[in-house]
Amino acid sequence: MLNVGVDLGGHNISAALVQIDGDSSRIISRIDRKTPSGRKLPEVVDCIAGMTAELSHNKEISFVGVGVPGFLDVSRKIITKLPNFSGLENINFLEHLKKALNKRTMSPSLGMENDANCFALGEAFYGVAKGCSDFIVLTLGTGIGSGIFVNGRLVTGAHGMAGEAGHISISDFKDLKCGCGSAGHLETLVSADYIERMALKEGLPGDFKSLWQMRHDKNADVLISNALETMARGIASLIAILDPEKIIISGGMSKAEGIALELEKRTTSWLPLPLRKHLNIEVSNLGADAALYGAALIDLLRR
Ligand SMILES: [Zn+2]
Repeated sequence: MLNVGVDLGGHNISAALVQIDGDSSRIISRIDRKTPSGRKLPEVVDCIAGMTAELSHNKEISFVGVGVPGFLDVSRKIITKLPNFSGLENINFLEHLKKALNKRTMSPSLGMENDANCFALGEAFYGVAKGCSDFIVLTLGTGIGSGIFVNGRLVTGAHGMAGEAGHISISDFKDLKCGCGSAGHLETLVSADYIERMALKEGLPGDFKSLWQMRHDKNADVLISNALETMARGIASLIAILDPEKIIISGGMSKAEGIALELEKRTTSWLPLPLRKHLNIEVSNLGADAALYGAALIDLLRR
């Protein structure tokens, strides 16, 4: 069976052709495109349909799953809120994608899921969460996403919006507006976007990778240490509620050398004593491929 997993981002769209074959499923090929400027619905669905056609090489595609960086409704057909870019909200996204695929004489089944949930699914099947029944994936990048598994099942909540750790209320700074429409949330204080904005204000490099490498500079170190400390508090709160086997970090910031260990040290001090010895923060070994595997496997959630 051939499925396509799509990772829809504000800047880029990635898609992978995945051969589904139990434990030996694998990505056969992948392509990346810039997200159409303006991020208008017709252009976005046409881009995804075009990428799917290109990947298929005229073979039959059974399923196309799309990972979306935002809140979805419980039916998984409508995007309720995209915190970091707009234009695709409150419409039946899958219906439009279906039409774009039909125009190319393709009629696969379709599914949609929050992108961090796709990461978690990918990690559960083929990554470092394989065999874990309780774990949390945190995607650390432009925003902070999370996907949560409890008792071997993805947690989606009563309204389809569970597992949004980036929107934990962690600061009383009401002026720190969050893309979700509220304020003072975890991702307003620790996302790469925020750290990079603060760095530019201080005359430091505006990219997280360079900042991490220049932590000998006191100002760079203060910025990063403050963000890690806040993140550690968020992680400790999640652990206190869910008692997971492990926390898996993914996304651009997770590539910073030693970040998992540093987060572990800081998180420990915020945890209740009995939970401290179980703390385990690991970096994803699949990276961005986890989201593509997860998107390609969304239909398994519905069974
Ligand atoms: Zn928020």
